[in-house]
Amino acid sequence: MHFPPRLDIPDEVVRIAQRLETAGFEAWCVGGAIRDNLLGYPNKDFDLATGAPPDAIRKLFHRSIPVGVEHGTVAVLDSHGRPHEVTTFRRDVKTDGRHAQVEFGVSLDEDLARRDFTINAIAYHPLRHEWRDPFDGAGDLTRQLVRAVGDPTLRFREDYLRILRALRFAVRFGFAIAPETWTAAQTAVPGLQHLSAERVRDEWFKGLESARQPSALVTSWVEIGAAALWLPDIASSTQEIAAIDRFPEADPVLITSFLSQDPEASLRRLKCSNAEIERGRRIAHGRGAVPPAADEVAVRRWLAAVGPAADDLLAIATAERGNEDLANTVARVRASGAALAVGDLAVNGRDLIAAGVPEGPIVGQLLQDLLHVVLERPELNERSSLMERVRHQVPSTSERPARNATEQRE
Ligand code: ATP
Ligand code: MG
Repeated sequence: MHFPPRLDIPDEVVRIAQRLETAGFEAWCVGGAIRDNLLGYPNKDFDLATGAPPDAIRKLFHRSIPVGVEHGTVAVLDSHGRPHEVTTFRRDVKTDGRHAQVEFGVSLDEDLARRDFTINAIAYHPLRHEWRDPFDGAGDLTRQLVRAVGDPTLRFREDYLRILRALRFAVRFGFAIAPETWTAAQTAVPGLQHLSAERVRDEWFKGLESARQPSALVTSWVEIGAAALWLPDIASSTQEIAAIDRFPEADPVLITSFLSQDPEASLRRLKCSNAEIERGRRIAHGRGAVPPAADEVAVRRWLAAVGPAADDLLAIATAERGNEDLANTVARVRASGAALAVGDLAVNGRDLIAAGVPEGPIVGQLLQDLLHVVLERPELNERSSLMERVRHQVPSTSERPARNATEQRE
């Protein structure tokens, strides 16, 4: 890989670098955007690394937010109010596999040495157009390799999350993991249990979303042993894992729910939100009862029964069956305007009470009965015929005097 003579750095980033340099501090573009641009992927999110300590950054840029000041990161806002991360050169002084204590006042090369992979440890000077690549990240971009900076065993022990990051970058770019890096990562896998669920979940989700093929990310988690710790009941059959590549998008909650024996437990272990856990629960609940595409009545009943889980279950059924038949029936049913919930009926609870049905649970029960009829025969969802049925069920009502405006209208 040749370094291009210049990278196209956005003006706002150049201006921030200029101000730092004028004040006497080095400023370099580093990290993911450099890597992505060298690979030919558009990424304008250039982070800066600088010799300026955090308080100096904050003094130079009044419009700035201390996003992680203990780690030396300040978000500087440009004239459009957009944030750009500026991080002080730092070195880890103490690590325990989960957190690092950092020290400022170090050189660019020391800062690059604490980065995780060679492809993430390349720096570019946005004013002088110089490159700095002490670990031959460019060579590894050419060789298509994820390789730890320095001694891989030590690097994974410093921060176990790097194991999952290695898998994510490999799958995203279609790279291999260098053999010593892979072996060290695999050896370090038991350390993953010490990570917080939030960090693991963010990596899992990001990995699935950024993968060329989500199945490759899952397979790599299974292979290295990360899945056994964090997703112990996940499917391991190649066929089932391959089905996730046929989902319309890489939706991490859907994928996790699809692959898990017990989606609720998986999502809870990853400390997902209550809404996400509920979504997983509904998926598990509805998985067994998906109807054949040709049976429209059954499809209507099914849509009514699964409610908000319908689209998730449809995505799963489509991926598993490998055809759009059910999706087509569902689209047809939805376009027909057929009632699929009590709220779609041509009558409501007030109408029933006005017709003499006593207030209470019986009202809801009657509406359910009507829905059941209409799911079978949508053409019956019409006010007078539904009211007629209600009167049959509550024979005395027709003799009662009108009680309100609704009934007087009739
Ligand atoms: P992405 O496209 O996912 O943002 P990225 O490479 O920019 O990829 P970030 O998590 O944004 O990843 O981190 C920015 C840079 O910080 C990385 O390129 C890497 O140099 C360094 N870095 C991030 N996390 C770690 C870590 N856990 N250990 C060492 N270095 C890290
Ligand atoms: Mg980034």
